[in-house]
Amino acid sequence: MTKFSDLSLNPKVLKAVEDAGYESPTPIQEGAIPPALDGRDVLGIAQTGTGKTASFILPMITLLARGRARARMPRSLVLCPTRELAAQVAENFDTYAKHVKLTKALLIGGVSFKEQDLLIDKGVDVLIATPGRMLDHFERGKLILNDVKIMVVDEADRMLDMGFIPDIERIFGLTPFTRQTLFFSATMAPEIERITNTFLSNPAKIEIARQSTTSEMILQGLVSFRPTRRDLSAKQKRRMLREIIAAEGVACTNAIIFCNRKVDVDIVAQSMKKHGLNAIPIHGDLSQSQRMHTLDGFRDGSVTFLVASDVAARGLDIPNVSHVLNYDVPSHAEDYVHRIGRTGRAGREGRAFTIAVPGDEAYLGAIEALIGQPIPPAEAPWSPESRGEDGSCPPAKGNSGTPVRKTRSRKGPSRKPDTAAQDGQSTHARTVPLARRRGRSDGSSRDDRNGPGGAGRGDLMPGFIAMSFDERRGGSAADTGTDTPETGDAT
Ligand code: AMP
Repeated sequence: MTKFSDLSLNPKVLKAVEDAGYESPTPIQEGAIPPALDGRDVLGIAQTGTGKTASFILPMITLLARGRARARMPRSLVLCPTRELAAQVAENFDTYAKHVKLTKALLIGGVSFKEQDLLIDKGVDVLIATPGRMLDHFERGKLILNDVKIMVVDEADRMLDMGFIPDIERIFGLTPFTRQTLFFSATMAPEIERITNTFLSNPAKIEIARQSTTSEMILQGLVSFRPTRRDLSAKQKRRMLREIIAAEGVACTNAIIFCNRKVDVDIVAQSMKKHGLNAIPIHGDLSQSQRMHTLDGFRDGSVTFLVASDVAARGLDIPNVSHVLNYDVPSHAEDYVHRIGRTGRAGREGRAFTIAVPGDEAYLGAIEALIGQPIPPAEAPWSPESRGEDGSCPPAKGNSGTPVRKTRSRKGPSRKPDTAAQDGQSTHARTVPLARRRGRSDGSSRDDRNGPGGAGRGDLMPGFIAMSFDERRGGSAADTGTDTPETGDAT
């Protein structure tokens, strides 16, 4: 097996890798580092999660370790499609360059030009940027790209999706013809192929099997339902989301919830908050400082639920995400793989549920064709038909990060325990049971976070069972039309 020490990296870089606790290079590192150190162009077809960031940063640091940057003339350039990814690359750089004296600047939108100008004026070895912001600096005459020796394009396919390819072509044209180019993309769309043919010179091509195969560590489930009324479909979908979270119980320590549209990111986050869930939205329309603050909160556990758009959350490397919940079936099959790959990281188990409604069939077909397997159906924890047309019984709750005690006694029929789940049967069973079905069979009511004796949130009983018909009507009237917290929500 290849070791990092076999790769001719600078000893100080090796030391930083050792400090990071890595035992051996990943396949993309093993493939990309040697040609990069030889000064060759590299075309890496690899997705996030493969270790691709280190595969370009480690050789860059080694190559740049000698020499000095001149004012306003960065010696290398790393282009990333989003601010978050750029910030993540910058963090990686700090980790791997901690024993060498190299300087960096992060040029991303949402941060004042002044601070960035000061850094550039001093001279930086590595400039990490989103394409738009980098060109803004260039046009303001603050940046000279004639000394760029290494240029990295990260996540080129995402750049394509976001319409950045003309910017990338322009930046290529502004850097010296003799530069070394390290180019990474998860897929090779024809447009990406054209760019690489134009701007890369005899690259070493390293292709890491597409992450179309989703990690074995992730249990996937498809929760299908049919809204009872068109005008209530969004409301019922939000309810279904909460029910899934409730059904997952203690297993759901935190989650990233993906929506296809920014507007839904805001609505879903707001609705979750109203229902007592500790949720925060993240998408491209928020300021950089808000986005960073939100991500920090999610990382440190002060935010339990991150409601996200694909762009804002793609490639984020946050360990310990227990769940990914697709509020919408993604319209690009690849996004499914990226989304669910936010959980089940670093050898941990993860759970990913996707809510599907009629009309999602074509997207699901594309996803299943890509991952080469059906997404196992999961039993819906709730049905909008279970109560009236709007299905407005008391909300699922309790996953706001603080334990929640139920106050209502259990009178309803006891839930049949799920023997498959109890037996520890394969998580790849055809129908994936939600954790709720690990309910207590003795009918007792105890919060499941109160210790090992507690059952899963499976012992939650839909509140309406314990309500009189009039109470139910009152609850539903209060709930119709808007997404205000539902009655009976007191804990
Ligand atoms: P990336 O694909 O660059 O987003 O990296 C995904 C994760 O893999 C990051 O958390 C890295 O810290 C981690 N990583 C990178 N290289 C290695 C390695 N050789 N061994 C173990 N983990 C690694």
